[in-house]
Order: sequence, then structure tokens, then C-alpha cells
Amino acid sequence: MSAQTVVVAEDDAEVVFRARGLTKTYTMGEVEVRALRGVDLDLHAGEFVVLLGASGSGKSTLLNILGGLDIPTSGEVTCQGHRLTGAGDDALTAFRRESVGFVFQFYNLIPSLTALENVALVTDIADSPMPPEEALEIVGLKERMHHFPAQMSGGEQQRVAIARAIAKRPAVLLCDEPTGALDSRTGVLVLQALERIHEATGALTVIITHNAGIADMADRVIHLSDGAIVDEQRNAQPKRAEELKW
Ligand code: ADP
Ligand code: MG
Repeated sequence: MSAQTVVVAEDDAEVVFRARGLTKTYTMGEVEVRALRGVDLDLHAGEFVVLLGASGSGKSTLLNILGGLDIPTSGEVTCQGHRLTGAGDDALTAFRRESVGFVFQFYNLIPSLTALENVALVTDIADSPMPPEEALEIVGLKERMHHFPAQMSGGEQQRVAIARAIAKRPAVLLCDEPTGALDSRTGVLVLQALERIHEATGALTVIITHNAGIADMADRVIHLSDGAIVDEQRNAQPKRAEELKW
């Protein structure tokens, strides 16, 4: 079939996500958009992965399927041995709630709640969360916890969103263009927060970006083009977030 690269386990590290033959086709009237054309992918515990590709290459579609926000047209996904494909709505909701921290380009904070209250919204429904104050401390915003989103910069709001994502101690952190709305200096601060969290928790961390400058901080870079994985590279010595430039 296609000549795409098959990205599978090279070592014994625990496989967290295993995707096989994922396709996603959107049908809009007469038009079919093939957002994913057969993706095979293993992501391991503790990895820091950057999923790199141009706009429209299928990155968000793939991440949303891994995170249980969307379902593929065909193919299989498991997370920690549990099948996401074919799981019912209740099981997918529980999976998202307990196992996945999401960070999106736009922070999706509730404007009428303080930083602390925004984080507490999630810790209130999680199983064994960290205190919201602790999550805000990890992202360097303990002093700002009683501030409202409108009183914070974009980078600070994104760090609140990251605190909210990690407060439930998720096994995986899925970030879709987390620096996409930020200038590079502020973006680096956000990436430093993600780096610190990864080092502290060891959570499998996946960052989607169209920005090749971010790829240097990853253990592994997976290149997506036109709905397929076309290349993969490992960084023997990932750069620190503070060394990144774009
Ligand atoms: P990326 O995140 O890499 O920019 P996406 O996964 O968002 O790419 O999109 C991949 C392709 O699927 C694009 O052509 C996009 O227009 C299309 N697409 C994404 N979501 C939808 C949708 N809900 N309905 C129709 N087409 C979609
Ligand atoms: Mg996208």
C-alpha cells in the first residue's frame, strides 16, 4: 500500500498508546476529506514526543483520537492495554477524565473564575488529584492563584490551563499547539513548564506543533504529512526548552 514509515516499539518500555491502521475520513456533502490514511504508532511510558506537521496534516485528528475525544473511521487504538476503539461513551468519558490531561492552543479558562477555581473545577471531579495550589506552584503561578484570566498574560493563562491538565495526575499529557498563540519568548516559558512537569511526573507527553523549532526538545519526533507518518527521528540529546528558538 503506502510507503509510510511504521513507528513501532524499539525497546521494552511500556507501550501506553498503540494505534494500528487508523483512518479518519470526514464527509461533507459530496466532499470526502481523508484526514488520516492509515497510521501505525506506539507511544511509550515516559516519552516526550513531538508530533510535527504542516497545518492540515492530521495532527489534531490523531491527537483527538488518542485522547478519546474522537473516534477513527477504521483501525484500532489501545491505551495501557485497554481498547479505546469500540469502547462505549461512558468508558471513553472515564478514560478522558482519569487518564488524559489536555492542553489546547486556546486556553479555555472560565473568565469568571480565578486561576485556582479554574484548576479546582477539574480536581473536584478527579480520583486522586493534587491540590490545585500545588499544580499552580508547579507552573510557577502560586502567587497569581487568585487572579482572573483577564488579569493574566496569554502565557500565564496557558500555564493555568497546564496546571488544570496536570492536577488530576494523568498518565498522559496531550498538548495541541500549546504555544500556537504565543510569541516565542512566552512560548518558551510554557514549554519549560511542560518540561518540568515531564521530569517530575514522567507522564507520557505529546506536543503537536507545526513549528520545527520545538522538535529539538523531544526524545522522539514523529512527522505527519497528508494524514500519514512519513518520518521519525530520535534526539540523542534533547535540548532544554530554554535553548529553543523560533
Ligand atoms: P492539523 O491539526 O494537522 O492542522 P487536522 O487534523 O485538524 O490537521 O485536519 C486534517 C484534515 O481534516 C484537514 O484537511 C481538515 O480540514 C480536515 N478536518 C479536520 N476536522 C474536520 C471536521 N470536523 N470536518 C471536516 N474536515 C475536517
Ligand atoms: Mg491542529
